[in-house]
Amino acid sequence: MKFSHKYIIIGAGSAGCVLANKLSENPSNSVLLIEAGPMDNYSPIKMPLAASSLFKNKKYGWGYETEPEKNLNNRTINWPRGKTLGGSSSINGMLYIRGQANDYEEWEKVGNKGWGYRDLMKYFIELENNQNHEDQYHGNFGSLWVETYEPILGASRSFLSACEKYGLHKNNDFNGEDQEGFGNYQVNIKNGKRFSASDAFLRPALDRSNLHLLTNTLVEKIITSNKKAIGVKVKNKDGSNIIGCTSEIVLCGGSINTPQILMLSGIGPKEDLMKHNISVVEDLPGVGQNLQDHLTVNISYKINRLKTFSELMKPLGMIKNLFEYFIQQKGLMTYPASDIGVFFKTNDEVQTPNAQIHFAPGAGKYNKNGAMKPSSGITASVCNLRPKSRGHLTLASSNPADAPKIYANYLDNEEDIQWMIEGVKKTREIFKTSPMQELEAIELQPGSECVEKSDIAEFIRNESLSVYHPVGTCKMGLTKECVVDDQLKVRGISGLRVADASIFPSIISGNTNATCNVVGAKCADLILQKR
Ligand SMILES: Cc1cc2nc3c(=O)[nH]c(=O)nc-3n(C[C@H](O)[C@H](O)[C@H](O)COP(=O)(O)OP(=O)(O)OC[C@H]3O[C@@H](n4cnc5c(N)ncnc54)[C@H](O)[C@@H]3O)c2cc1C
Repeated sequence: MKFSHKYIIIGAGSAGCVLANKLSENPSNSVLLIEAGPMDNYSPIKMPLAASSLFKNKKYGWGYETEPEKNLNNRTINWPRGKTLGGSSSINGMLYIRGQANDYEEWEKVGNKGWGYRDLMKYFIELENNQNHEDQYHGNFGSLWVETYEPILGASRSFLSACEKYGLHKNNDFNGEDQEGFGNYQVNIKNGKRFSASDAFLRPALDRSNLHLLTNTLVEKIITSNKKAIGVKVKNKDGSNIIGCTSEIVLCGGSINTPQILMLSGIGPKEDLMKHNISVVEDLPGVGQNLQDHLTVNISYKINRLKTFSELMKPLGMIKNLFEYFIQQKGLMTYPASDIGVFFKTNDEVQTPNAQIHFAPGAGKYNKNGAMKPSSGITASVCNLRPKSRGHLTLASSNPADAPKIYANYLDNEEDIQWMIEGVKKTREIFKTSPMQELEAIELQPGSECVEKSDIAEFIRNESLSVYHPVGTCKMGLTKECVVDDQLKVRGISGLRVADASIFPSIISGNTNATCNVVGAKCADLILQKR
């Protein structure tokens, strides 16, 4: 075994960067952070609008896709994941959303003590450096830059007016008292540049002599002895090595890679491991199960009265945009995944919003390489915030370089398709209001002939996409299908914890990045026995 460290963290993503920072605050803790991808000093990572160009980039991403989805007419769905410092926060849409209080109350209710809304609010506030809100819901002294994104284009302002005309209420803070309503998104963008978990939490700690970083290094498996994690097997340009750990190993590889690494290490569903001739260390049937994600569908309109992204990105406009970005740190290149959001209830039975819109003053389709091919128009993408369908993932082989097989199982539960249909209908109603009619909005997708419920359902099956929020594959809880307990400790194995999106017992009602930061921070406190 090569040198030993007190703590080994696998994955420098949204949770891993926070954890690395907090564990290495004490100089006597030797911390090794291992990341499969390279450093994050590639300029498209920092330029917000370039994010989609990274989705299928093999150097900075894993480029996963699902198996053919039976309820989506056998389409495979792109699942980009970041593979660089910052992990998926280095390729994501930069929207800062915390979800709803009920999401965390539910986590606590199923037996996860210390994971309720009040407990986690402390962490959201501690980590945050909000530029626009100073109240009991926000922090202004943390490392994570959060600012409210002001719409640049008239089409976005018209959509705000349309929401108001439709009767929705203006919400100045989706992360405040109440999530419901329409308004501007808060984003992790500072001076026009992406502000990832790496920028917020890792970079400020990198000069600590007790924090060691290995990039371009794949962790192939965790080494155990008598059901205790004692080291990791890694592969990089120096070949294969085993690195020892004297205290704890924490898996922060994300919802796909963390269960994959566990299974490669003999920790997972016994039958699946045996299929690949992997010796069983611990039969944990829940590893890779309980997979949840947000599914969304784009509703787009051509407008005749205002310019949209595609017109403003033509060569001459592009020169202006790049000039504004590089010289003034502003303009269209600073644009996040969406500038205007709406959280609404699709029916009267739900207590809190069950649908979210991501609006953008642009339209287009992803090409085969996963990059956006723009076309003239504006888009409201509507998603079901609390899907009931559950998928799973499993090993394709015992080779750590092979992507696991992902079965998202979207729309398996009948209620999911009903909620999506209701969401589409309500979104279309917003476009019927006068502010949109003044723009001469003509529906491009699904199109005026798509009226019946069955047509809308078919449209959803043909066109829906992931919002890229997979969670839950190493679920936290008390029952035997749970992989970790409320201390994030892997059942049956000592010296091993998981801290990333895979531990979410259920998906939150919103974008998942900020909660992953919180999972990393809370894990540090659990390890260091703080609070
Ligand atoms: C395209 C996209 C857009 C999104 N947009 C938003 C958004 O706007 N707002 C929002 O809140 N959320 C968004 N999300 C979701 C959010 O970014 C993720 O939920 C979050 O980043 C997940 O954090 P994590 O810590 O679980 O994993 P990650 O951040 O994915 O980190 C995992 C890290 O582990 C590394 N790793 C994995 N396996 C190994 C191994 N074997 N050895 C070494 N290292 C390994 C990976 O390379 C990666 O760096 C988006 C995600 C994507 C992909």
